[in-house]
Amino acid sequence: MREQDVRYRPAGGVDEPVLLSPPDVGPLEESYLLRALRSGWVAPVGPDVDAFEREVAERVGTAHAVALCSGTAGLHLALVALGVRPGDAVLVPTLTFVATANAVVYTGAEPVFVDCEPDTGNLDPELLDRTLRDLRRSGRRIGAVLPVDMFGSCADYGRILPICAAAGAPVVEDAAEALGAAREGRAAGSFGRAGVLSFNGNKIITTSGGGMLVSDDGDLVARCRYLSTQARQPVPHYEHTDTGYNYRLSNLLAALGRAQLRRLDGMLTRRRAHRERYAKLFAGVAGVRLLADADAAANCWLTSIVVDQETAGWRAADLGRHLAAHRIETRRVWKPLHLQPVFAGSRAALSGAAERLFADGLTLPSGSGMSDHQAARVAEAIDRFLEGR
Ligand SMILES: *Cc1c(COP(=O)(O)O)cnc(C)c1O
Repeated sequence: MREQDVRYRPAGGVDEPVLLSPPDVGPLEESYLLRALRSGWVAPVGPDVDAFEREVAERVGTAHAVALCSGTAGLHLALVALGVRPGDAVLVPTLTFVATANAVVYTGAEPVFVDCEPDTGNLDPELLDRTLRDLRRSGRRIGAVLPVDMFGSCADYGRILPICAAAGAPVVEDAAEALGAAREGRAAGSFGRAGVLSFNGNKIITTSGGGMLVSDDGDLVARCRYLSTQARQPVPHYEHTDTGYNYRLSNLLAALGRAQLRRLDGMLTRRRAHRERYAKLFAGVAGVRLLADADAAANCWLTSIVVDQETAGWRAADLGRHLAAHRIETRRVWKPLHLQPVFAGSRAALSGAAERLFADGLTLPSGSGMSDHQAARVAEAIDRFLEGR
């Protein structure tokens, strides 16, 4: 067995549950982590942090990067560094993980939710344009626009960037799910004034928890780096003229990230193979499609099906229940944020697309560490479900 094929996972026995996207770590991660520990660089500074930043920036194609303790921290810092302030409107897709909008709330600005394209689940450019125009007409200051690369498919930046430029709104790309994806020859993370990646435990690569802000704007990155270390002035004693944050990534976790980054291409291949397998499984099934099926440059972080109940004769939730009985984890597509109690009363520009994806979508096991045996178990369980219809 090759080293890449050995994986460490919590003990679960032969019939261990198949999870949606668990961490995929093994001996390479162990050796990097041990080396960092033995080097004595255990603090949140050190050579692995510097190297991880250089390596991620190179991969994404940006001039700079700053390693942080989470993707959420990266989104927050980007907004602060761009001067987003209380009362601003920040446009956010309604179909995303809550962290995107939470970062806006941390600044005191107001998230304004925008619906998605039905095919990809990504921000709807036309609705974005209309919402920006409405807000500007009513005199609102636009702090930023925060498109998300949904499940590892880049948003339509060819249309989104000119719309935001016309509105004078800086773009922060939430590429938390999208490391390794691309669109029109550019890497996810490189489209906005800043991009943010996540290395949370379930993401395409993991540092157990962590994130990175990437950008070509050296001043912006320097500002984020400064704010991420409690805004310490460069003097021998502790001197502070701004409110900072404790957002840096530890050197140990950066070492873990470097090992993961070395394995990224292999991981992408495996996730893409899962998607192809699901595409074949559902190819002849009426009323079922894959979310963002046409995106060949997606990183395939998570593969979701969308089930039209009228045509299929069953609901996504029915398959979810069937798979759960076989100890196979699935999840619904994000519950749109405009429906979340915590955002009740927030402004939202809606077409109904996100609510339909929430109702009809089902996310299937997509992890790069999924064994062939597990993948076969999933395929068999799906086949059996479809035969029973
Ligand atoms: C995971 C995720 C985040 C947050 O990243 P953390 O590292 O968990 O803080 C932000 N946005 C999206 C779209 C995500 O999926």
